[in-house]
Amino acid sequence: MIIDLRSDTVTKPTAEMLDHMLRAKVGDDVYKEDPTVNELERRVADLFGMDEGLFFPSGTMANQAAVKLHTQPSEQLICHEYSHVYNYEGGGVSFNSGVSCKLLTGDRGMITADAVEAAINPPDFYHSPLTSLVCLENTTNKGGGACYDFAEIEKIKTVCELHGLKLHLDGARLMNALVAKNEDPARYGNVFDTISVCFSKGLGTPLGTVLIGTKDAMSNAMRVRKVLGGGMRQVGYMAAAALYSLDHHIERLAEDHQRALEIALLLKSADYVRQVEPTETNIVIFYLEESTNAMQFISDMEEMNVKISDMGQGKLRMVTHLDYTQEMHEKLLDILSNYNK
Ligand SMILES: *Cc1c(COP(=O)(O)O)cnc(C)c1O
Repeated sequence: MIIDLRSDTVTKPTAEMLDHMLRAKVGDDVYKEDPTVNELERRVADLFGMDEGLFFPSGTMANQAAVKLHTQPSEQLICHEYSHVYNYEGGGVSFNSGVSCKLLTGDRGMITADAVEAAINPPDFYHSPLTSLVCLENTTNKGGGACYDFAEIEKIKTVCELHGLKLHLDGARLMNALVAKNEDPARYGNVFDTISVCFSKGLGTPLGTVLIGTKDAMSNAMRVRKVLGGGMRQVGYMAAAALYSLDHHIERLAEDHQRALEIALLLKSADYVRQVEPTETNIVIFYLEESTNAMQFISDMEEMNVKISDMGQGKLRMVTHLDYTQEMHEKLLDILSNYNK
C-alpha cells in the first residue's frame, strides 16, 4: 500500500466515474459540437452565476488564457509571491502575455485590499508598467490551503473597480474553499471577471479546468485557447468525468479536510516538528526541528511507502484527497506518531 500525499493531483477515476465516461455523448468540441463539454461549461457557469464557460486541458492553460484576456504586453499584474501563476506556470505570464508580476507578501498566500491598492502603479507615470490585473488564489496552494475571508475579496474588488483593474481567481481548489466555509458559489461569480475551476485536484478526474467569466471577459477566450493549443476534439469523455465529480465528489471533500486536520494535530504534538501551519482544508504544511534533516525525513517516509512533498524554504507538504482512504489514514497516523529521529 503506497500512501501518496504529494498532491491531490494523483487521484484516479473511480470505476463509477469510468463507467460514466464510457457512456458520454461526444462530438467535435472545436466546432462546439460536443454536447457533454457544452453541458459542463453551462453547468459550471450557472453554478457560479457567470455568463460563459470554456473547457481547458489544464489549470495552467486556463490561468494563462485569463491573463492574456485581461492584459496587454508590457503591463503588470499583482499577485502574492507564493502564487501559482508566478511560481508554477513556467514563467508563462511573460512568455504568453508579455506581462510582469508585482509580488505581494501576506498571510499564507493571501493578499489584502490595502496591499493591492498600495501596489498599483500610478497610470500617468509612464516610466512604470501599467497595472491592469489582480490575480487571487483560493484556496492557496503554497500558502497551505488557506481560505480567503470573503469580505476581504469584496474589498479587493472595490479597489479594482476604483482603479479600473480586472480581477481573476485561480480556483484550482475553489471547491475546497466552498465546502470548508460553506459558501455560496454565486458570490464568487459576482465579484470576479474570470475564475478557473479545476477538476483534476482531488476530484478524481484525469484532466480539465473550466474557465468561467463575464460575457465581456470571455469574448476572445476561444481564440486565445486555440492559440495556446488547447482546442480539443471529442473531449466529452473528460467533461463527463468532471460532471460526475460535481455530483459525487464535492461534498466528500469535507472528509479530506477532517483527515488533514487530524494529521496536523498529530504533527503539532510530535517532538521532531517545529511548526505546523493552520490547516483549514486538505493541505498540511509543516517545518521540522533543526535536529531532524528534511531529506532524511522524506526518505524515511518513502521507505515506509509514504510520499510527501518538499516545497522549498524548509516547507514540507502533505495533501489529502479522494484516493487517500481511512485505512491509509490510520496507517499514516501510526507511522507519524512512532517516528523518532
Ligand atoms: C494545480 C494548480 C493549478 C493548475 O495546475 P495544472 O497542473 O495545470 O492543472 C493552478 N493553480 C493552483 C493554485 C494549483 O494548485
